[in-house]
Amino acid sequence: MSTDHKKNQPIYLDYHSTTPVDFRVAKQMFDQMTAAFGNASSVDHKYGDEAKTAVDQSVLYVADLIGASSKQIIWTSGATESINLAIFGHIARNSDRTLPRIAILPVEHKAVIDTCEALAKQKLAEIIQLQVDSKGRVELENLEKVCASGISLLCVVAANNEIGNIYPIGEIGKIAQRYEVAFLCDASQVVGKVPIDFAEWGITYLAISGHKLYGPKGVGALVVRKGYRLKPLIYGGGHQKGMRSGTLNVPGIVGLGEACRLRKLEMVEDERAIATKRDQMQELLIEAIPGLVVNGDTQSRLAGNLHISIPGIPNSAIIARVHSKLAISSGAACSSGVEVPSHVLRALGLSSEQMEGALRIGIGKFTTEEEVCQAVKILSETIFSIR
Ligand code: PLP
Repeated sequence: MSTDHKKNQPIYLDYHSTTPVDFRVAKQMFDQMTAAFGNASSVDHKYGDEAKTAVDQSVLYVADLIGASSKQIIWTSGATESINLAIFGHIARNSDRTLPRIAILPVEHKAVIDTCEALAKQKLAEIIQLQVDSKGRVELENLEKVCASGISLLCVVAANNEIGNIYPIGEIGKIAQRYEVAFLCDASQVVGKVPIDFAEWGITYLAISGHKLYGPKGVGALVVRKGYRLKPLIYGGGHQKGMRSGTLNVPGIVGLGEACRLRKLEMVEDERAIATKRDQMQELLIEAIPGLVVNGDTQSRLAGNLHISIPGIPNSAIIARVHSKLAISSGAACSSGVEVPSHVLRALGLSSEQMEGALRIGIGKFTTEEEVCQAVKILSETIFSIR
């Protein structure tokens, strides 16, 4: 994000919702759309060959970032489609005559919850809710018991998009493998921020979203472990070995590939700097705003996540007042605008005051120290004026 672009704009602190596209990513996409615009399935000429080569290169970058093989990757329109494909596709292909049981964390993204509920409504699956504590941490003993009781699919998000908790995916994958349970991990918030080892961690299906790692919107991937078969959601043309028909979104794929290549090189350093700014912001806010509570698991959360509650002050009152100066949110992008408290905060059992006063702040690699200080000033002055 250039400084020009930021001029006279609210300070962007909503990186969980979406990240700005890295200019280097946008440049690759622009070149792909203009100079090398071919269809990757056109096998009869140079334009098609060039597009296919670009896709083949991108798949290597994605696979390399997450420790998977390039053969395991299916391109999709984003994490929502990847999750739908994994859940519907797995249940359709792998159920016998008994009703399949799907275990999920109550803090999963709506893409997982609503997909499972759609199956449950059609009486095609039963949903089992796993237990979390008041910080949203998973109860591993309970998870193991549920796996041992016999389930068709386990869904655990790698990091939550509201409170930012990072879940112990390696450990959970081992449990899933021990009980031979297929395991879907929604890694949208984690890919490019925290190292992932798909091959080692016992994950069966991994969902990726381009726009959470400084890549474009409308592109993502589903990574599928060897030996697992899914029923496709989309038919026509037989692209991607029939798993997801439709002309490949070559510029999007190239953008996702480039974003992954850059994250592999820059992730560790960037995330360290982001965590420093987040910690600084947290300290300053605690100092400036009496009664402020930090939600979620502060021992294991995304570097850029700061989820706070200011009990007694509704988040809507704060957001309305800072709207022209700060881009922060009351919750997940898909749920904001809806007046009910988020399902994530309800799962934690927070008090109604804590839920009503909840604010999600998301810091990213383009956030400056100056913006952090400015945001703290704006927030504390606003809260002081309301009180
Ligand atoms: N899962 C999580 C944890 C998310 O944060 C998001 C994005 O909002 C999604 C899934 C959906 O991703 P997409 O926008 O690529 O469909």
